This record gives sequence, structure tokens and C-alpha cells, in this order.
Amino acid sequence: MSNKLILVLNCGSSSLKGAVLDNGSGEVLLSCLAEKLNLSDAYITFKVNGEKHKVELAAKPDHTGAVEALMDELKKQGLDSNIAAVGHRVVSGGELYSESIVITEEVIAGIEKCIPLAPLHNPANLLGIRAAQNIFQGLPNVAVFDTAFHQSIPEHAYTYAVPRELYRKYGLRRYGFHGTSYRFVADEAARFLGKDKNSLRMVIAHLGNGASIAAVANGECKDTSMGLTPLEGLVMGTRSGDVDPSIFSFLEQNANMSINQITDLLNKKSGLLGISELSNDCRTIEEEAGKGHEGAKLALEIFAYRLAKYAASMAVAAGGLDALVFTGGIGENSDIIRGKVLAYLGFLGLTEDKEANLKARFGNAGIITSADSKASAVVIPTNEELMIAQDTARLSGL
Ligand code: ADP
Repeated sequence: MSNKLILVLNCGSSSLKGAVLDNGSGEVLLSCLAEKLNLSDAYITFKVNGEKHKVELAAKPDHTGAVEALMDELKKQGLDSNIAAVGHRVVSGGELYSESIVITEEVIAGIEKCIPLAPLHNPANLLGIRAAQNIFQGLPNVAVFDTAFHQSIPEHAYTYAVPRELYRKYGLRRYGFHGTSYRFVADEAARFLGKDKNSLRMVIAHLGNGASIAAVANGECKDTSMGLTPLEGLVMGTRSGDVDPSIFSFLEQNANMSINQITDLLNKKSGLLGISELSNDCRTIEEEAGKGHEGAKLALEIFAYRLAKYAASMAVAAGGLDALVFTGGIGENSDIIRGKVLAYLGFLGLTEDKEANLKARFGNAGIITSADSKASAVVIPTNEELMIAQDTARLSGL
């Protein structure tokens, strides 16, 4: 093995996702997922050559223990000495970072400064960074921010219509998320369509468990649906997306709920789950809707309707629409959601090609509108790990 390898880490408060990519081919040689961190039954699952195995982290059930177990596994596989750099997904870079950056003590202080904007995620990202610095000593570490791509959004799009002082004092504004995915998908879509990204007006929908949509024109982000937090915008697996903010006082007065309880309800019990009263998983909802379940049918319709409404508004931000791009688990696989969205957007000159829509699934990219459509709709699989690995390699001089 002579190729240089990049380790990509994505830390949550109780989880750690890792992937080792070949810097030349982009191939994933090993991936892992540590779960239940900080509980006594924490474990890490490795996937190598299509085979999975699990290692208990009982002796050290935290982020450091997980990175140590990862190092042990890399040694076992003979991959450790080829790791040349570590890339970290960092959720919020606030207004400090509009690009990926090599991690120094100053950058760590910057990520700490952004903790109020991502109170659950940034501290976990920092744990991953510290663990990697200790265990992969001497290697460059690179931070790739979820918010960075959105830093080009103009002031009139990121400013909430609340007293300006709140922005000046607390940084209260819209930041957006999923930026790494948008950057990757915008490039891929332009390549797939054979167009110059600097003359394309795109609306890109990243539809996973969390879902958002962004306007990208001339290669720059112009607006996005997630805001100060990932709660704003589209209907998601368990998040409500946009609601009337007066829901807080309404539920406080009528249901005797606290701010924390309502925040929890909007983040974890709403969206597809809350409407369907079944599941947050789009596959389950589609199956049950197919059998006539009313809640599941309504959940799909609301999801698609909100998405179409947002897509049309994002065409305003992009200054027009050349391509509507679907990505993320739902965007890459659900012909049902895509078909509904295209039907709502017929007035923008998009006409579904039903056969092409059915085919563009399971990792296959494809144009899903008919040849005479005024704008194209296209399915492009995202690959955030590859984008992080590419930034990491470039900034590490590999
Ligand atoms: P995450 O945001 O956790 O990375 P993903 O991008 O993996 O999530 O997307 C998960 C969502 O994609 C789930 O709602 C899942 O049901 C949906 N999904 C995956 N495969 C399909 C499919 N074949 N048809 C419809 N939805 C799918």
C-alpha cells in the first residue's frame, strides 16, 4: 500500500463516524461508527471489505476510546502508517470561517467561540479533534465546516426581521447547514449536466433525516432554508421546520409546556413522525401510505408541498432556475417525493420523465425531467466524506 490515506471524522455528542479514504481514488477502505459514547455499553462497529465487526469500548467508552479503537483496527489492517491527514466535520464555524482550514490552537479557540451556535455539536467536534491530535500525533488536522458554504448568502437573506441589536450582540442570524453536501453536489451537478457551474442557477434539496434546500448561482450559495439552528425550513424526519413562533406561547398557555419541552417536541417528535404518528423514516411512510394509511399519506403530501413551495422561493434567490437537484437519502431514492414535487412545480416548466425518475435510485444519478422541460431536475448522490477528504488533502499539501 503506497497511496496516502485520509481519515475523516464526524463526531456527535454520543457517536463518532469515521472513514478512511484513498487520496488517489477516493475509495473508502474502512468505515466505522461508534455509538452510545459515555455510556458503559458503548461500542464501535467497523466495516472493512464489506465485512462488519463490533468492538466493545467498555474500558474507555468515550470519544478518545473510540479513536484509540480505530487506531488499533487500522494497525490490524496495516493501514495506520499510510494515514497522512485527518479531516473533521465541524458543524458551526459561525461568521469566522467561510472555508475549510488547517486546525491550529487559534482555530480551536474559534470553534469554541462558535459553541453557542451549535451547543451540542461543536463540543463533540472538539473532542474528536483533541483525540485525533493525541492519537495520530504529528498529522495535520483540517476542519471542514457545515456552515462555510453559506457564508456567501447576502445580508438581506440571512437577517431575521427582529431588532438588529440581537445580531450585533449575540450573532442572531441565519447560518444554514449541510454546506459541505451542497458544495459537493453543486460541482457534481454542473459536471453531470455538462455545464459551467459559474453560469448555472440551481436549487438543491438535501433530503436526509434532516432536510434543507439551497439556492446556488454562479457557484455561490445565495440562500438556504435552515437558519440559526437546523429547525427552520422544510418538514424533516422528526423536525417540524417552519412553524408560527407563537406556538411557544400557545402551548405554554394551553398545554402547560415549558420552552425546553416545546423545543424538544419541535425537534424530535414532529415532522414525518409527528404527522404520520408512525415513523420518521420515509421508506416506512411510503410503504404505509401505499397501503392507505391516512397519516402516512398526509405526511408525504405535506413534505412534498412544503419542499415545492420552498424550491419556488429559492428560484427567486437564484435569480431563475436552470436545474433542481435532489440529494440525500430521500432525494436520491424517493421517486414518490420527487414526482410530487415536480407536479407542484409544473408551472416553472419542469415536466417529470416518469421512467427516468424510477431509474434514478440507489446511487444512480440521472436527469428526471423530459427533454422539452424548460429547466432540468436531476438526482445527484452526495458524498460529504469525499468532500472533507479532498479539502483535507489539499490543505495538507498532499
Ligand atoms: P442522514 O441525514 O441521517 O444522513 P440519509 O441521507 O441517510 O440521512 O437519509 C435518510 C432518509 O432517507 C430516511 O428517511 C430514509 O427512509 C430515506 N430513504 C433511504 N432509502 C430510501 C428509499 N429507497 N426510498 C425512500 N426513502 C429512502
